[in-house]
Amino acid sequence: MKPEIIQKLKEIVGKDHVYTGKADLFCYTYDGSFSQDKPVMPGVLVLPGSTAETSEVIKLAASYGIPVIPRGAGSNLSGGTLPTTDCIILQMTRMNRIIKIDKRNMIAVVEPGVINGKFQKELAKHGLFYPPDPASLEFSTMGGNVAECAGGPRGVKYGVTRDYVLGLEVVLADGTILKTGAATMKSVAGYDLTRLIVGSEGTLAVITQITVKVLPKPEAEQTVLVAFADLDQTTDTVVEILARGIIPASFEFMDKVCVENIESYIPSGLPLEAEAVLLIEVDGPQKLLQEQIAEIEKICREKGAIQIRSASSVEERDKLWQGRRGVFGAFARNYATILAEDVTVPRDKIPEAVRKVRELGEKYGIQTAVIAHAGDGNLHADILTDERNKEEMERVNQLLAELFQAAVDLGGTITGEHGIGLSKAPFLPLESGVEGMRVMKAIKEALDPQNILNPGKMFGDRSW
Ligand SMILES: Cc1cc2nc3c(=O)[nH]c(=O)nc-3n(C[C@H](O)[C@H](O)[C@H](O)COP(=O)(O)OP(=O)(O)OC[C@H]3O[C@@H](n4cnc5c(N)ncnc54)[C@H](O)[C@@H]3O)c2cc1C
Repeated sequence: MKPEIIQKLKEIVGKDHVYTGKADLFCYTYDGSFSQDKPVMPGVLVLPGSTAETSEVIKLAASYGIPVIPRGAGSNLSGGTLPTTDCIILQMTRMNRIIKIDKRNMIAVVEPGVINGKFQKELAKHGLFYPPDPASLEFSTMGGNVAECAGGPRGVKYGVTRDYVLGLEVVLADGTILKTGAATMKSVAGYDLTRLIVGSEGTLAVITQITVKVLPKPEAEQTVLVAFADLDQTTDTVVEILARGIIPASFEFMDKVCVENIESYIPSGLPLEAEAVLLIEVDGPQKLLQEQIAEIEKICREKGAIQIRSASSVEERDKLWQGRRGVFGAFARNYATILAEDVTVPRDKIPEAVRKVRELGEKYGIQTAVIAHAGDGNLHADILTDERNKEEMERVNQLLAELFQAAVDLGGTITGEHGIGLSKAPFLPLESGVEGMRVMKAIKEALDPQNILNPGKMFGDRSW
């Protein structure tokens, strides 16, 4: 990066917020994704402290045609923050203020660098909560959550990030500051620019302020863990519980391989003969929960459950969640590399999708496991492998290509929450078709004609 540009960046954000050292920059050659390519060094790391500074940095980048990679915690799993050579990494974590929690209107306003989990804790002090709960909530940022449209276990009942974002302040590729949406529960004024930016993975604008709706914190939660010796019984149970009008706050599924790995790591009494387990959590008024749990247990028994364990205290609940939370740790003891894919299918297609994952694992000689947010059909097809084994990685790549095609064939999507980034860019046309790619590219070109915002992400190298 030219010294004159570094000097100008220091004048905008202050010299303490610009990093050019090799060791510092090397830390930004990777993110939460698995990349088989050689690390690419960015040109400079810049941490703006305000919307005005963000705008000035982007104006400068636009005047020199320098790529800008917006970044939060870098926890994305799709290569969404991997640099291009000599780019500016625009890390938004200094902008980390909770600007407003407005209980009367049930809204909150935050800067993009606020950590989701910290926001949740602040809201809880006001008797409120923000439903999107990615498993990364202890470290991922609200800006990253919005840019990826993050989801989590509570998605089945409460939806995902896009269902809570009411308005945004963003900086466009020429430095223009734009406000979208309104701090109201309704607004149909013009095109829905807020939704366009949500999930745009830093390719259309840099998010500098987020207005979200929040909800009253449920009075209580109750959890039940159920094991089945048969896969179809498990998914029939999911469909039946929802059909009887009970919408659990979480509906987690883990297959046999997960159970075996968990039991060898943190033995928690899961039956090894289980083909799958469901972790079901309901929330709401205490009185209603007891009735719902009784009904859920009845349905599970009818469907042939081989073990049912319920918890009502916080300690018991934590114990039931222990296995689910520890499953990646359990895998990590036995496998060097874990690829957590997130294909999503219509809920009643889960058995087919799980079988497909197993079948592909057998075909390519790769160990697989499935965790799913079963209520919304979001599968985490985990590929348990070793990236140092190049020949095996070839087979993994073939497996993934077939898996993405299978998800689309089942009427689903190649990604329910992790985004396209670099790693799934070659597969987006499978789902969007040429027409979809052209419309998206037209939007990108209209908002970012120089292609400086997160270039290469989503579209790959191909022109549409
Ligand atoms: C252990 C683990 C568990 C996870 N569990 C889940 C899960 O349950 N659900 C889920 O959805 N995801 C999950 N993820 C993925 C990841 O945490 C989410 O995608 C998260 O939203 C990324 O937030 P971040 O702050 O790390 O963003 P980053 O990774 O830094 O960035 C993500 C994307 O957003 C863009 N971006 C970041 N900030 C801005 C901004 N201010 N303006 C514009 N663009 C921006 C980046 O350019 C990039 O494209 C998990 C990841 C890990 C490592």
